[in-house]
Amino acid sequence: MARIRNSIALVAGLLLAAVAMAVDPAGPVVSKTARALHEQLLTLDSHLDTPMNFELQGWDILQRHDALQDGSQVDLPRLIEGGLDGGFWAIYTPQGPRTAAGVQAARDAAFAPLVAIRELVAAHPRQFELALKADDAARIAAGGKRVVFLSIENGFPVEGDPGLLQTFQRLGVRLAGPVHLCNNGLADSSTDPQGPEWHGLSEQGRRFVAEANRLGIVLDASHASDEVLDQLIELSRTPVLLSHSGLKAVFDHPRNIDDARLRRLAASGGVIQINFLSDYLIATPHDPARDQALQALWADARTGPPTLAARQALIARKAEIERRWPVPRASFEDAFAHLLHAIRVAGIEHVGIGADFDGGGGVTGFEDARDYPKITARLLAEGFGPAEIQQVWSGNLLRVLRAAETYAQGLQARPVGAASAPSSP
Ligand SMILES: [Zn+2]
Repeated sequence: MARIRNSIALVAGLLLAAVAMAVDPAGPVVSKTARALHEQLLTLDSHLDTPMNFELQGWDILQRHDALQDGSQVDLPRLIEGGLDGGFWAIYTPQGPRTAAGVQAARDAAFAPLVAIRELVAAHPRQFELALKADDAARIAAGGKRVVFLSIENGFPVEGDPGLLQTFQRLGVRLAGPVHLCNNGLADSSTDPQGPEWHGLSEQGRRFVAEANRLGIVLDASHASDEVLDQLIELSRTPVLLSHSGLKAVFDHPRNIDDARLRRLAASGGVIQINFLSDYLIATPHDPARDQALQALWADARTGPPTLAARQALIARKAEIERRWPVPRASFEDAFAHLLHAIRVAGIEHVGIGADFDGGGGVTGFEDARDYPKITARLLAEGFGPAEIQQVWSGNLLRVLRAAETYAQGLQARPVGAASAPSSP
């Protein structure tokens, strides 16, 4: 009996080893069937940080670039090759000093990427189109153009003036997260070294939520603390999105969410879009010398000239740091483990893709926009059907956006004062 058990264990061990060996660092092979299906689907990524490259002089979104040369992961040729129809293009504002002048500077700075994205669309109307409603996405993609929804990453620019959110909404913003890497006047961040300041949302943060609901803007809880997520789920009148996040059960990191919260998110109609940023997917040991070298690099990146040549020099320096102080980098399968876990816990109707390309995303075997078909191939291999894969690629995301639209339209349709009028004399 023991011998049989040992043989079973041996066979099982060999099978596991075979599976482990079968994990190709290049990621899954995309069959013709998978590629054909991928082309038929409406594919959206909910977090494209590509607008950060728009200010780079010499960088052209219509031209093909190489991530190894300039770090960029998304441009039109690679979007076409990767069969991505578009997604939410982020207006990202770094967290600056929390002073009146700091807020003013952030507010001014946020309009630059907003204008740049709109200029891109205006300059290339045959390649890109601004999407303002959930239903626009399929129409734009069917016309062979890339779908450009706008999102805000970090609500700091509207801190002190929640009415400004309406201006952003009028200019096209349909998704907004209150906070980024550090706490601000709206909300606590999941990664602020000081820990929680508001234990969730501040009073202003609560107004931000109400205003977003009123305007039909989806609330984005990525980067926010767990308490913020809890309060967003409770306060928001429409389902909450995590535009680029992972799962604590797979890798325990403050940026990721636990299974209990994932279940509550799903029960409230919300959706998690899985990110592909290595540090949030697997454990990465910290080496002070490496961290110091990287910090110096980022400081130079902030102050250096916004040119393609300067960027290429920075990328070469970064490669040198990686060579000198190597750390493990997540694989496609590491990222996919988060996706599969989310599907198991929340159900496939509550999961999507937000790879965080051009914002730190990218893992071994999933390096740039050309690699999106691997997700379709891997979901097929996992046994999911076309309708389910369509949900992951955009169905769930657009359902959340549609709910926000419907809620805002309902408010507009109501007679003025109806919400506050007493029901009886
Ligand atoms: Zn982010």
